[in-house]
Amino acid sequence: MSRYAYVNGRYLPHSQAAVHVEDRGFQFGDAIYEVWSVRRGQLLDAEGHLNRLQRSLSELSIPSPMGPTALMMVVREIMRRNRIKDGLVYLQVSRGVAKRDHAFPDPAPRPTVVLTAKRVDAASVEAKANAGASIISQPDLRWGRCDIKTVNLLPNVLAKQAARDAGAAEAWMVDADGFVTEGGSSNAWIVDQDGRLITRQLDNAILHGITRGCVADIARGLGYEVVERPFTLEEAHAAREAFMTSASTFVTAITRIDDKPIGNGAPGSVATELRNAYQTQQ
Ligand code: PMP
Repeated sequence: MSRYAYVNGRYLPHSQAAVHVEDRGFQFGDAIYEVWSVRRGQLLDAEGHLNRLQRSLSELSIPSPMGPTALMMVVREIMRRNRIKDGLVYLQVSRGVAKRDHAFPDPAPRPTVVLTAKRVDAASVEAKANAGASIISQPDLRWGRCDIKTVNLLPNVLAKQAARDAGAAEAWMVDADGFVTEGGSSNAWIVDQDGRLITRQLDNAILHGITRGCVADIARGLGYEVVERPFTLEEAHAAREAFMTSASTFVTAITRIDDKPIGNGAPGSVATELRNAYQTQQ
């Protein structure tokens, strides 16, 4: 748990930090969020996450609560106050506080801004990633704008809980046509038998992962062919490798899907190479 949280201009002890009961984030899930990883005191992909934050706000017509420079000052201050060397910074912006009524309040209230930060043990994250992850598949029950990073995460919560119940680390969600969309909190990749990297194209069915974009660039730079198209669970089962990407897990090899081993059941060389390259270029 972080020791300090930022709420609407104030740094408060975490236990005393709160938002109003009429906050639209609480009432309607009318809020967006971002997550940055921190390693050795450095924010990873700071600009990419800032740009996506801006896009999420504008897609929902939530006014930007502060400019990027001011926001980055708050991000750094919350890291400093919580003494974060390795960890995660979480930001949420809701439409604000208003009498409960579904349509946007008029005039627009001041958006609610919350930041928290927590430490992670980088060595144990590495050890976990080196072991590879088992995952399960789940139906994708979400809405039509998964490209917006909203706090409406109930289908993701249910999928991740199903994974936990099965002793798995992640759930890949599968749409009505049998295509994998993404993980509950990560993007999905496979490496086919010809060594091509396949990940779903940036459409409204997935979050446009910042790590996904960086890893795609790195992979192309290393000479891999990256194909952006939907793939099925059957293709994933037959793949040479599978892996996931996210700000918190970087590149993590997937060794089993629904109890079927992928490749030889150990983390693959492509995922391992990309994990190392992603961390080196930060
Ligand atoms: N998809 C979903 C549903 C996520 O929650 C996340 C994590 N934020 C990702 C993909 C990965 O995105 P990023 O690389 O920007 O963390």
